[in-house]
Amino acid sequence: MSKRYLVQTFGCQMNEHDSERIAGLLESDGYSQTDDQSQADVIVVNTCCIRENADNKLYGALGNMKQLKADNPDLQIMVGGCLAQKDRDLIQQRAGHVDVVFGTHNVHRATELLSDARTNGPITEIWEAADPDDAFPSALPARRELDYAAWLTIQVGCDNSCAFCIVPAVRGEEISRTPNDIVAEAERLAADGVTEITLLGQNVNSYGRDLALAARRAGNQAVRIRPAFAQLLRSVSAVRGIRRVRYTSPHPKDMTAEVFDAMAETPEVMPHLHFPLQSGSDRILTAMHRGYTADRFLTKLAAARATIPDLAVTTDIIVGFPGETDDDFERTLEVAAAAEFDSAFTFVYSPRPGTEAAELVDDFCDPAVVKDRYARLRTVTERSALAKHSERIGRLEEVIVEGPSKKDPSRLTGRTGQNKLVHFDRPDGPLRPGTYARVEVTEGHTQYLMGDFLEVTTKATHRTRIPVL
Ligand code: SF4
Repeated sequence: MSKRYLVQTFGCQMNEHDSERIAGLLESDGYSQTDDQSQADVIVVNTCCIRENADNKLYGALGNMKQLKADNPDLQIMVGGCLAQKDRDLIQQRAGHVDVVFGTHNVHRATELLSDARTNGPITEIWEAADPDDAFPSALPARRELDYAAWLTIQVGCDNSCAFCIVPAVRGEEISRTPNDIVAEAERLAADGVTEITLLGQNVNSYGRDLALAARRAGNQAVRIRPAFAQLLRSVSAVRGIRRVRYTSPHPKDMTAEVFDAMAETPEVMPHLHFPLQSGSDRILTAMHRGYTADRFLTKLAAARATIPDLAVTTDIIVGFPGETDDDFERTLEVAAAAEFDSAFTFVYSPRPGTEAAELVDDFCDPAVVKDRYARLRTVTERSALAKHSERIGRLEEVIVEGPSKKDPSRLTGRTGQNKLVHFDRPDGPLRPGTYARVEVTEGHTQYLMGDFLEVTTKATHRTRIPVL
């Protein structure tokens, strides 16, 4: 029987995609996946320090693994990701049963480190920066979570300095992957039967600025220093077999009319824009170093809606950033109401060690006040979500089938072009995940839609994976 691995991911899409690469490397090395920790020969914990209580979650999980290691001394435990990049030696000091600690820039070394640790004992290997020649391990195998949809990394790192965010410290400077490399990966994915691609980066719409700068430095003065994201959307959409292109996350400051034009003119790019507001107060936006004002945000949003037909807009908003006053919060409520978001990820501010905002201890807001603000904001964002979703009742939507509904297993769940979940009645025969189907929307709720199945529009084309036992 082959050796088994388990990857536990605590993080954002970037972490999830790194986990797919780690799983792919382990499978190439002869391991097969298990969901049962007690059966695993290798457990990888891929950490994220963007999420709240990341330390507690990591050390809680590692504490639970101590007995597993005592029962099975051959078990190898690896910790990777953002928190590993930040905490480094501290991880093995606090959890001596961890065999390998690796960072965000040397994911491709996972299996070599595992093998070294087997021979030489515990290892911590953190690279300070990505090797530009090796920043995009496109040749690495990946075990995708979904057979019909895939993440495609276009850029790593971030050149911004949002005061609440640890990403620039743990992921480094922006490095864009070349367009040829990205399109080649899209073609490989399409050949595998993938029909939906999500372009992934910390600040996707500044994609390519570093490539233009490098070309200038190399003597090509004709190159304009500007993002090339709009062109990239068009190039990936032109790959035969790719029916849906999405992207995350863009930054409002860097959003251009060219990107909206590309979305409007390219049917494969889905009509969904995630546009993180963070705050509606100009004072707080300045303190956050976001680089736009509330008016500028709303102006760009209006341009997006005027250009892209039937556009859904989602956002992120932080409540209780250090120093946020009642007036600041009222502005956030006003802007959120004016923006009429389809959905909002609302967060109570919590300090991430190592960030500028975490130092502003004297300005931290009263938790009771923040709780009240949070509830008021949710009322506003849920009101607009319900209104947007109710408007869709009676519409025919094409969805990509994801599988049985988690709400009601007698139904199926699909995702619309606008990235909304629809739970719909099952047709008589089976519907493979990855199938495109037409449904009629019958109900709108704050988080999802309900619908009736009408017909299959396109059958799934990917190969079904047969588990290795
Ligand atoms: S743009 Fe701001 S929030 Fe996004 S990754 Fe960069 S620093 Fe973090």
